Amino acid sequence: MTRKAQAQPWFAFYAAAALFAGVLSLLLVATTPAPRANHPDMSVPILMYHHVGDWGASNPAWAPYVVKPQEFARQLDWLAAHQFHTITFQELLAYQSSNMRPPAHSVILTFDDGWAEDVDIAKKFLAPHGMRGVFFVYTGAVAEQDNGSGYVSWNQVRQLEEAGQEVQSHTVSHASLDTLAPSRLEFEMINSRDTMQAHVGHAVQVLAYPFGHHDARVIQATRDAGYKLGIAADDEIVAVEPREQWGNFQVRRFKMSYDDGIDVFAARMAEHAQK
Ligand SMILES: [Zn+2]
Repeated sequence: MTRKAQAQPWFAFYAAAALFAGVLSLLLVATTPAPRANHPDMSVPILMYHHVGDWGASNPAWAPYVVKPQEFARQLDWLAAHQFHTITFQELLAYQSSNMRPPAHSVILTFDDGWAEDVDIAKKFLAPHGMRGVFFVYTGAVAEQDNGSGYVSWNQVRQLEEAGQEVQSHTVSHASLDTLAPSRLEFEMINSRDTMQAHVGHAVQVLAYPFGHHDARVIQATRDAGYKLGIAADDEIVAVEPREQWGNFQVRRFKMSYDDGIDVFAARMAEHAQK
């Protein structure tokens, strides 16, 4: 037997082993979720609110988007009693860019659509607890001065910012982004940010998708426009899976509805809080 012939079985064994290891590692890559360190929704619970008011019962269609004032107060009391403290998305991004996890018991409170009542929510509910919220405003609804439209004015946006609250983008027109032509999609993202940045004292790097609707094309456009976070809802119709692939551009929130009591709130916080 030649040396070459003797080597062949070993070569075949190593080749087969290498092939097996290669296939195994490919399978592992395909089935193992990406690390979760950069997924803000994995480490910080994010709550979604729209309205605080007593009118949910008389407007059943809106009931998922209204919380009773006394229930909202109880939820904030619960957070304070359990040593939760609010952070904003700007702070979350700062932690991420420093490769740090936010402190334990961090929570983000978000309020969508830029209703004029946001100023009262900040004053009556958040300020007494020293809490900060993030308000997603769509710029097409915002006039320079208060005009009774039901939406915040730029004057009120500045009041929110000066009171320590954070305002971020919810597009220009609140259209469902996955239905828009590319040029309109780009306009919704870039124009809302540029308009908002002219009024607030910080970079606008966070976009909440209207209705939570987003798909791969919307996510790519959000990234291309320079945003750092794309915020979904917990009831979006258009979903992109697997979500690990998208991380910062598929950040989920959970919303509290009109009939949810403090027990539901506590259970959902336990589900989403840092483990
Ligand atoms: Zn909205």
